[in-house]
Amino acid sequence: MANFTDDIPEARRETLISSPEPSLAKPASNSTAWILLVIAILGLAGAGIWWFKPWTSVVDIPEPVEPAATGSAVAAEQAIAASETAAPPAPDSASTDSASENSESNDPVSLLGHRQYALADTNSLVAISTNAMVRLKPEAAQKVEAMIADAKAAGAHLDVISGFRSLEDQQYLFFDLKAERGQTTQTRAEVSAPPGYSEHHTGYAIDFIDGTQPATDLEVSFEGTPAFRWLEENAAYYGFELSFPKGNDQNVAYEPWHWRYVGNQESLELFYQD
Ligand SMILES: [Zn+2]
Repeated sequence: MANFTDDIPEARRETLISSPEPSLAKPASNSTAWILLVIAILGLAGAGIWWFKPWTSVVDIPEPVEPAATGSAVAAEQAIAASETAAPPAPDSASTDSASENSESNDPVSLLGHRQYALADTNSLVAISTNAMVRLKPEAAQKVEAMIADAKAAGAHLDVISGFRSLEDQQYLFFDLKAERGQTTQTRAEVSAPPGYSEHHTGYAIDFIDGTQPATDLEVSFEGTPAFRWLEENAAYYGFELSFPKGNDQNVAYEPWHWRYVGNQESLELFYQD
């Protein structure tokens, strides 16, 4: 007996010899050791059982644990998420996985169809001579001055009504007018951008008017004026384009008065980079 127990570590020897139920009979320190030993053995046995389970049954384990309703709702959400994630690539997309991941992570932030824009440094803005309230980035301002002069020479009274706008300006135009007119968010977003999402923040967007027809200011009827016709034929020569033509991708209402400068690298990247 002595030889046998000598081969057993002292801590275990005591429990083996003294009692068939050591956890009940022994002091706390010994019973704790016994419990830990049992837990370890059970744990190893459990791990062994898990290890030899086929993969399919391992994957199936969590499902019965969830309540039926929650489980099916979660499953439905997961199915939707999976179908969205697995949506086929755009027809023109020949990109690799990594390229598409990059384009996703670099996607510009947009809200209600309007892209997010950083505010221009107001110190960099230049006022337009015919309306000092209207300020633009220098290159755009210079072109607008030339356009007003050239349109005048051609018999059109082209003028400006709005250029750079601050967040506060846009706050008023979006939220305050939305409330004043009782418009829905979607309806308001068709004719105005939320603060932070207006091209006017960039200092490269401008609203033109016809100086002889104030009733058409910021109205679709502006397209019937000599000023608009002059813009249609000539704006591209000055680096300007219509931001929201009819049927535009952003689903913003047609705005014949709202133009943007895309005649330099900075403005081009602002409006076209994705
Ligand atoms: Zn505008």
